[in-house]
Amino acid sequence: MTAQIIDGKAIAEDVRAEVKAGAERLRAQGVTPGLATVLVGDDPASHKYVSMKRKACAEAGIESFHTPLPQDASQDDVLNVVWAHAADPAIHGILVQLPLPKQVDEETILSAVPLSKDVDGFHPLNIGALAMKGRDPDFVPCTPQGVIELLDRSGTKIEGANAVVVGRSNIVGMPVALLLVKRNATVTVCHSRTQDLAGVCRGADIIVAAIGRARFVKGDWLKPGATIIDVGTNMIDDPTRKSGRRLVGDVDYEAALEVAGKITPVPGGVGPMTIAMLLQNTLRSANRAAGA
Ligand code: NAP
Repeated sequence: MTAQIIDGKAIAEDVRAEVKAGAERLRAQGVTPGLATVLVGDDPASHKYVSMKRKACAEAGIESFHTPLPQDASQDDVLNVVWAHAADPAIHGILVQLPLPKQVDEETILSAVPLSKDVDGFHPLNIGALAMKGRDPDFVPCTPQGVIELLDRSGTKIEGANAVVVGRSNIVGMPVALLLVKRNATVTVCHSRTQDLAGVCRGADIIVAAIGRARFVKGDWLKPGATIIDVGTNMIDDPTRKSGRRLVGDVDYEAALEVAGKITPVPGGVGPMTIAMLLQNTLRSANRAAGA
């Protein structure tokens, strides 16, 4: 069997086009969706992520408001920026780029983002609502929602499926597991203390791998025909590349291609979906604020 490749880049472009059309409709009513980005410190990767997000906003017709703060900014400095954005009606979403420097408490800052502007979906009350039956969060975290979109738009049936999520982080594994439960999958969450991970994976119709270990999930761990969503991003040495390095996922992609029914590549799978979902959340927030 050769798996169908789930093209995250193409699916993300579809989502971005939908957001652009939605933003145009909103602007015609006099409301421009706005996203505030708060970046503390000099981490090059964080700078790159924020500039990618701002570029994507511009392309989708979302205005971005950027506040860079120095590495030694105090917790109050960051809180003051978040509070100012919270009060600004032109801003529909607030994104505080993580990680924050050690003098700034992440939970305090994320809890200061009003629920109505929590487009990252990391507010504890939004995560709490995700975990509760009969409740819906205002916003769902972007990468986990991107995983669900990839499953839906690739025609993968979630309801009734045996889903295994490898990884239980606050930002990926746990919210993905909660979303899959909400969609009536039977979910097993695995982590570093899981016994017989290979055996657990072999029973899965859907595997979401979010571990951060290069090619950790092997081809012979997969049920034939399973759908594999690979969230991992890991740099490995590759002397055949000019840079000497290359990006791989948490799944042994070449081996998995032979067994799986559908699979996301790395790069070009989950990665592009994260920003697309951020744009979608910002538009949703602006629509709500406009009463649309
Ligand atoms: P994380 O916070 O480091 O969590 C990793 C999880 O994997 C933990 O729950 C850990 O278990 C589990 N784990 C580690 N080693 C394991 C092992 N040997 N067997 C089973 N489970 C194991 O990572 P994260 O932030 O969730 O990110 C995971 C990966 O996704 C990373 O490669 C990251 O770069 C990538 N990512 C990609 C995107 C995107 O947009 N594409 C977004 C976010 C993250 P314990 O809980 O027991 O420690």
